Amino acid sequence: MSESRAFCPRCGDAVPERSASDANDPLRPGAEVELCDSCYFEDFDFVDAPDRIDVRVCSRCGAVYRGNRWVDVGAEDYTDIAIEEVSEALAVHVDVEDVAWQIDPEQVDQNTIRMHCFFTGVVRGTPVEEQVTVPVKIARQTCTRCGRIAGDYYASIVQIRAEDRTPTTEETERAKEIANQIVEDMEATGDRNAFVTEVGETDDGLNIKVSTNKIGKKISNKMLEEFGGTVNDAETLVTEDEDGNEVYRVTFAVRLPPYTPGDVIELADDDGGPVLVRSARGNLKGVRVTTGERYEASYEEGNSPDARRLGDLEDAVEATVVTVEDDNAVQILDPETFRAKTVSRPDYFDPEAETVPVLKSRAGLHVLPDESDD
Ligand SMILES: [Zn+2]
Ligand SMILES: [Zn+2]
Repeated sequence: MSESRAFCPRCGDAVPERSASDANDPLRPGAEVELCDSCYFEDFDFVDAPDRIDVRVCSRCGAVYRGNRWVDVGAEDYTDIAIEEVSEALAVHVDVEDVAWQIDPEQVDQNTIRMHCFFTGVVRGTPVEEQVTVPVKIARQTCTRCGRIAGDYYASIVQIRAEDRTPTTEETERAKEIANQIVEDMEATGDRNAFVTEVGETDDGLNIKVSTNKIGKKISNKMLEEFGGTVNDAETLVTEDEDGNEVYRVTFAVRLPPYTPGDVIELADDDGGPVLVRSARGNLKGVRVTTGERYEASYEEGNSPDARRLGDLEDAVEATVVTVEDDNAVQILDPETFRAKTVSRPDYFDPEAETVPVLKSRAGLHVLPDESDD
C-alpha cells in the first residue's frame, strides 16, 4: 500500500485518505473535495427550513391548496395540516444519518401555529442536533368545489319522468340512490368536482342537478339499464368560461316506460287476455293472466304497446277456490259478490291452493301468480 496523503482544500490541513466508495457516492457529488472536519462543520447546515409557511385551507371541507390546486388531505384539524405542511417543507442535509425528529406544535392564535421542530442525527461520526421554529399561518378560504356548492352551481340536470304516468316512489328513490352512489364513487377516485347540487321533486317526477355532464350521463344510463325507457339530451349554452370557451349545460330527459313490472295491462286489438308485466327493458315482456303463456311486445311496439292499465299485483285480493273445473277453467268466489264464478285457469295456478290472488278489473276476474312468499 502506497503512502498517500490528502489535504483539506480550504485550510491545507492533512485529512485521512478517502475510500474509493466515498468518492464515487452519487448522493455526495461535492465529495470529491474533502474538507477537514472543522472546515466541514463551519459550513454544515443540518436543517433547511423556510421562515414561515402559509397554508390556504378550505374552511368548509378542510382541503389544502397545493401547487395550483385544492387537494383533500384527510386531516382532522389545522394542527394536522400544519404538521403535514412542515414535514413537506423541511429538508435535512443529505450527509446526515440516523435522522430523528419531533414536532411540538404551539397554537399562537386561531390562525397561527408555531412548529417547534427538534432534529438529531449523525454526520462524520459526530452527533448533531438542531432546533428550528417555523410559524405556520393558516388562511381560511373556500375551495372551488365548496364555492360552487354554496353557489348552487350545476352543469347538468337529469329529469326523471315516465310516459303517461308519474314515476313510482321506487323509481325516484332509486334515482337518488344512483346519483349519490355515482358521486361517491367518483369522489373515491379523487375527483373533487363531483357533487349533487340539488334533488327536487316536481309534479311529474324528479329533477337532479349535478356538477358535471358526465355525472348526468351516468345517472341517466344507469336508470335506463335498470328500468328501461329512453333518454334525450339537450345542450343549452349558459356562458363562456374565463378562457372564452362556451359552457353548455346538458339536460338529460329520462323517460321511463309507461308500464312497470307488476302492472296488469289489457292490450288493444288483442284477445289473448290481459298481461302481467314482468319487464319493461327493451321490449315489454310478461305473462298472460288467462293462460300463463309468455308475451313479448314486437320490436316496433317496444316497451309501450297500445294498451290500458287494469291494475297491478298490489291490487290483488285473496279469493276462495271453489273447484277446479278442467285444464282451462277454475271456479272461484268473486271477492266482491261472493258468488261462484268460472274463470280462466293459467298454468301457474296451484290446484292444491285454497285461496288464490285475483284481480277484478274492467276486463273481468283474473287469477294472478301467488308471489306472497317471494
Ligand atoms: Zn480545513
Ligand atoms: Zn372546500
